[in-house]
Amino acid sequence: MSEGKITFVGAGPGAPDLLTLRGAAALAEADSVIYAGSLVDERLLEMAPRATFHNSAKLSLPEVLELLENGYRSGKKVVRLHTGDPSVYGAVSEQYRELDARGIPYEVVPGVSSVFAAAAALHVELTMPDISQSVILTREAGRTPVPPAEALPALAAHGTTLCLFLSIGEMEQLCTDLLKAGRAPETPVAVVYRASWENQEIVRGTISDIATKVHEAGIQRQAIIVVGDILRRTGSLSRLYDPQFATGYRHATTGFHGKCAIFGLTRNALLKAAEIAPGLDDAVLFTPEKHADAVPALRRVTYPDGSFAEAFHNAWLQFDGFVMVMAAGIVTRHLATLAQDKKHDPAVVVCDEAGRFAIPLLSGHIGGANTLAQDVAHITGGQAVLTTASDVRALPALDEWAVKHHYRILTPENLKSLATAILEGAPVSLEMPRETFLSDFANHSQFSLADDRRDGTVVARAKTSEAHFQKERFHLGIGCRKDIPLERLNEVIPETLAEFGYSLNDVSVLASASVKREEKGLLAFAQIHGKPLRFFEAEELNAVSVPHPSEAAWEHLGIHSVSEAAALLAAGDGAKLVIPKQARTDITLALAKEACK
Ligand code: SAH
Repeated sequence: MSEGKITFVGAGPGAPDLLTLRGAAALAEADSVIYAGSLVDERLLEMAPRATFHNSAKLSLPEVLELLENGYRSGKKVVRLHTGDPSVYGAVSEQYRELDARGIPYEVVPGVSSVFAAAAALHVELTMPDISQSVILTREAGRTPVPPAEALPALAAHGTTLCLFLSIGEMEQLCTDLLKAGRAPETPVAVVYRASWENQEIVRGTISDIATKVHEAGIQRQAIIVVGDILRRTGSLSRLYDPQFATGYRHATTGFHGKCAIFGLTRNALLKAAEIAPGLDDAVLFTPEKHADAVPALRRVTYPDGSFAEAFHNAWLQFDGFVMVMAAGIVTRHLATLAQDKKHDPAVVVCDEAGRFAIPLLSGHIGGANTLAQDVAHITGGQAVLTTASDVRALPALDEWAVKHHYRILTPENLKSLATAILEGAPVSLEMPRETFLSDFANHSQFSLADDRRDGTVVARAKTSEAHFQKERFHLGIGCRKDIPLERLNEVIPETLAEFGYSLNDVSVLASASVKREEKGLLAFAQIHGKPLRFFEAEELNAVSVPHPSEAAWEHLGIHSVSEAAALLAAGDGAKLVIPKQARTDITLALAKEACK
């Protein structure tokens, strides 16, 4: 009988499509497959349609060897499947030795080790310039001892990147050993559970807290632990991205601090990118070769035409922020695979070629994308489009608050730095009426009431910037039929104001015609709400030209208009009607705004 064939195959970390083509070919023709139990995805076994299967978890070494030898001698093609790469903690050496001793040939097909699947999941380069140019693959001593010279406290002292297999059950010991080795407690550590599997999980922390976090996540097996400063995003860049720049760049904005990559695909986009770059703290321009001449050579990184995806993926996690001058859709597709979590993802902002809109797509708050978008909008003269909840809730946007509550902004030039401080979570002290504070700001712990200020001025202070606001003054003209009940005024006036976005709080003065001087309901209304009530004579009222004169009033009172004319008169020269006459059967109302002084 012809002799068979034995192939040791590295199955890869888990995902079946991480098997090598050579490994797949061996499986396709296998008569028999010996695999390592739960560590191998069932779908890999489906790639060996002719084979019978043996789970090595249930077999002793002699039994495995017997299967290999019998298969070989009976002319069968036998595949011995190992997880990851067979050469790393694969327990293959005793099999190789025994087969060698028996004169049985075999082939070995390498596989993707779980350590590389873990690095891929983390988007990390294990060897980063200036940080670590070596990687130690090791394990904590567990049931299997480790040679004394390789005990972790000794190995870890080198400060190189460390990747640990088979050690997730020894997290406390591992962290103690790392500290013993002199590694700083804040050294980053990442744990990747089941790298490349569908239920892959990543836990990040530092030497001081990773054991607790892993425990909380309930991870007990099948995990790779990566230790080292290469996990820090702010590490220095590889030389490619780190030319000697620095000169000739002004820092127009100081909102977003961090290294930014700016990408553009079209020539116009790159021209816009080149306009944005100098305004940011620290930015590098990425351009395809064909458009390289569109951007200044200083701070330019070119990549081959057509390899934008590669360039973007490579730059990911090398930068704190990305400004993508292109369609949001293009960026979104890439983020689907790049984004991990909001603690670690860099800020991503998309901007259109004309610079009209800057939209934070990822890491709005913690990553600073909202701030970066505002910086970009500031540079291009465009608009930042924020979608994060606290911004939507009108919380810190003092400019919007001012418009909504009819305050004039006296110091518009300070609003941007104030908004940035608020977005960064800086404490803000406010001087304003207590009730305004309670209704609009008290829910946000960032804000405090420094002074119950009632002169119509509001002051907001954060860090070194402050903004001043002045309440606009509004005058409400009221016409009403004789003996109007107070309840009716109480009902109609607030309701009508609200329809136009005002409230009684916005009204400084009430005004009517002198013939209403004795109107009890009206007098009571003014008194209850603490508003001064002014009356104007018919001649005064008739001297004002109004948009909606009333025939009925003219017939009854000899007055063309009560509400509009009274409101405009009370508000004085230059006043403007902001609510034109609203007529109910028994009441007419109009609101006028005083001109700015
Ligand atoms: N030869 C394998 C390692 C086998 S030892 C390889 O190259 O990956 C088993 C250890 O490998 C586990 O304890 C765990 O530390 C690691 N491991 C295997 N598969 C893994 C995976 N998908 N994700 C994370 N760690 C894995």
